[in-house]
Amino acid sequence: MPSNIRVRFAPSPTGKLHVGGARTALFNWAWAKKHGGTFLLRIEDTDEGRSTQEFERAILEGLHWLGLQWDEGPDIGGPFAPYRQTERAARHKELAQKLFAAGWAYRCFCTTERLEKLREEQSKNHLKPEYDGLCRKLAKEEVERRVATGERYVLRFAVPQGETRFLDHVRGDVVFQNKEVDDWVMVRSDGTPTYNFVVVCDDIDMGITHVFRGEEHLVNTPKQVLLYRAFEKPAPEFGHLPLMLGKDGKKLSKRTGDTALQDYREKGYPKDAIINFLCLQGWALNGTTEVFTVDQLVANFEVKDVQKAGAIFDLDKFQWLAGEYIRKEPLAEFAEHCAPFVVAANLATDAELRARWDWYLRVAHGEQERVRTYGELPPRVAYLFGADADFAWEADAEKNAKKHAAARDTLAAYGAWLDERLDAGKKPTDLRDETKAWITERGLKIPALFQPLRCALTGQAGGPDLFEIMELLGVPAVRARIRRGAERLAG
Ligand code: GLU
Repeated sequence: MPSNIRVRFAPSPTGKLHVGGARTALFNWAWAKKHGGTFLLRIEDTDEGRSTQEFERAILEGLHWLGLQWDEGPDIGGPFAPYRQTERAARHKELAQKLFAAGWAYRCFCTTERLEKLREEQSKNHLKPEYDGLCRKLAKEEVERRVATGERYVLRFAVPQGETRFLDHVRGDVVFQNKEVDDWVMVRSDGTPTYNFVVVCDDIDMGITHVFRGEEHLVNTPKQVLLYRAFEKPAPEFGHLPLMLGKDGKKLSKRTGDTALQDYREKGYPKDAIINFLCLQGWALNGTTEVFTVDQLVANFEVKDVQKAGAIFDLDKFQWLAGEYIRKEPLAEFAEHCAPFVVAANLATDAELRARWDWYLRVAHGEQERVRTYGELPPRVAYLFGADADFAWEADAEKNAKKHAAARDTLAAYGAWLDERLDAGKKPTDLRDETKAWITERGLKIPALFQPLRCALTGQAGGPDLFEIMELLGVPAVRARIRRGAERLAG
């Protein structure tokens, strides 16, 4: 059912799309969808020194990749265009003038030096750093005179006395004392407006009814709510989403893990696992279901169910969840998703993979139970692609092989036995039972052959079924690797 609900995601294109930003976008999108509202994208590029078109493009691309479609935005337009903040500068100027004329803003001539000194004194006296309102008390004539002499000034918002409230879907009814809010700068001396001012101008002009964003913006909300009052407009309802914390309990940072959505995409986390995991950062479908679909999210998501406490970004859990998604994928899809990673790892070109797709499907099948991301596949299967001499033995594989006293002899003898059967046209997968019988006849335990054999064929300590591996390698490679393996174990 369509409604008049309008929410927005308003990223600043000053960096890659952060996982916290992606979650904000996702929650706004899901909530709008659930309530039949409109979800719009606005690019907040007023920090011109740090904003770039590349970041903007990458953010849009990342959101598209997640499957988040917006109803209005800089790329598709809409009834409230433009959706790029710098393109709305004239309107911001007009609104700043309006507030100034109505007495909600005043000119402040204080120099940086004075403000610095003020801050120093406040900190010495253990006082909160804030503007002391000196210029708010200036007589009109003095202001006019100083403007006429070309003195530079900023426009400060004149915070009124009293208290202010807003509704927060996560925190409930929030009350703050206006005296806690500084007379903050609305327009800088170079005429550019600040974030807190433009965000409200645009939210009003775009008819935004609900603002859901990260908790780091909670400190800005009182300033913004007072602006709505100054504009004589109802404030939207808010929802401040909990901070994402690293396992160390500190704000998520590069130190504890990747912070950009793109990093997880490049590592090959399945898209739906990323969505699922981001949702778990502060929200849960219910107490028991950790793995859920986008449809379940849209059907059930409410901002009021989001937790207040910081959300721990648990990478182990993320990897576990990614693995759950991988195991649910049909093999053909899993293989398709892995293909670009195999190509990027230089194991084969895309055309080479396509030329022996059935073989590649079997390769992928062997690892689907084991990997947690698409990116984990290539190193695990590289031994199937390279030249026989080209693959290295991992230390634990070699250690496992050498554990067995007669490893070289066992491997060499098995190689000779296998050669005869392969010459007779048998397939490795036909030889499973016979091989086990061969081991028993020699009075050995299974690992006494299988560990040296696995090491010789794959260079790895673990992996899929050995006979399947032999089929994938092909007879010449199997013969060559067993021979080389035995030589190497002798040395
Ligand atoms: N542009 C702000 C940011 O990137 C978001 C502002 C808001 O949602 O109100 O953090």
